[in-house]
Amino acid sequence: MSQVLFFSYEKDSDPLKGLDKLFAKSGFADMIPEGKPAAIKLHMGELGNIRYIRPVFVRKVVDIVKREGGRPFLFDTVANYPSARNTKRKYLRTAAMNGFVRASAGAPIVITDDGDDLRAIPVRKQVADCDVTEVKVPSVLLESACVVVLSHVKGHEMAGFGGALKNLAMGCVSNETKRAQHLATTPLFKADADCSGCGDCADACPTDAITLVEGKPQRAAAKCIYCSTCYFLCPSHCWAWPEGAKEKLQVNLAHTASAVLSGYRGKIAYVNLIQDVAPDCDCVAPSGRPVVQDVGIAFSFDPVAIDKASVDLVDKSPIIPGSTSARPPDLLGKIHNTNSLVQLEIAERLKLGTTQYRLVSV
Ligand code: SF4
Ligand code: SF4
Repeated sequence: MSQVLFFSYEKDSDPLKGLDKLFAKSGFADMIPEGKPAAIKLHMGELGNIRYIRPVFVRKVVDIVKREGGRPFLFDTVANYPSARNTKRKYLRTAAMNGFVRASAGAPIVITDDGDDLRAIPVRKQVADCDVTEVKVPSVLLESACVVVLSHVKGHEMAGFGGALKNLAMGCVSNETKRAQHLATTPLFKADADCSGCGDCADACPTDAITLVEGKPQRAAAKCIYCSTCYFLCPSHCWAWPEGAKEKLQVNLAHTASAVLSGYRGKIAYVNLIQDVAPDCDCVAPSGRPVVQDVGIAFSFDPVAIDKASVDLVDKSPIIPGSTSARPPDLLGKIHNTNSLVQLEIAERLKLGTTQYRLVSV
């Protein structure tokens, strides 16, 4: 059984004080290596998204790490899909728009892409049919003496729920590895599609994988980077993900997270902010109105336990009237028509952690 420390917003309305308590009570503050780089891994929000982790929380974590003698930097990787974060330059501009600049963060911001030094790590163990055989992780992350995986808990269109495991798996790897995971969610043109032949999907496809043949799109599989742009933008909903794609993606996520962690030798801790629990992820703009009241902050050394606790805490939190017709258990998974516990079950079988946890209030 793993311990998950929990700071509840119901009991105390000062979350910054809560972060201090969580770092102190966990003992992680004492583990931060003096004078060594400390990565704070987070998603800084898509341009137009307003539910990502607010900069003030990140600054607080930066200040704690500095106070304990570490040299923090904010870290993320570029997006695989067309967006305001799919190059370093665009990501840094979006981060600045969202309030993350060196002066406010109190630390440098490091964004990596596939041109940076990457280390290949094999997926050594498979407990379910997984598409990913090798992951590539930026060396700057693997060489950090410690890592704080700072995750916003929210829904996700494909995984149902996004927390620490998803932050590790999709956030800490190269685009090549992101694509390997997203092979599961390759959009397919529906046989009964009511396609108008507008060509929007072909125009928007970032790799020119789609051509219109007699007014209907055809996808060249070899060119596809599985970004799902065609799926999301088609006004007639002509594209679908394969049957079981959402669960398969979660299998890929868990295996990727496992490989990432197998290549890391430093100290690592997980902080989940269970607030602004929007139905969609921080990559989406807008990501929708929150579905439950703000819950609190969780801290653990176990990524599986903290995500399971987060799912349970979301399920126990009062639903905001009118926000969703879905109901617990697995509220966020239900919103997205999947079982979002798949990622946790696979991660547990891969021995990344346990879904059995003890919640300890701070
Ligand atoms: S965007 Fe949709 S409706 Fe337009 S051509 Fe593509 S599949 Fe057809
Ligand atoms: S075909 Fe669709 S999923 Fe593939 S690259 Fe083009 S827009 Fe992305």
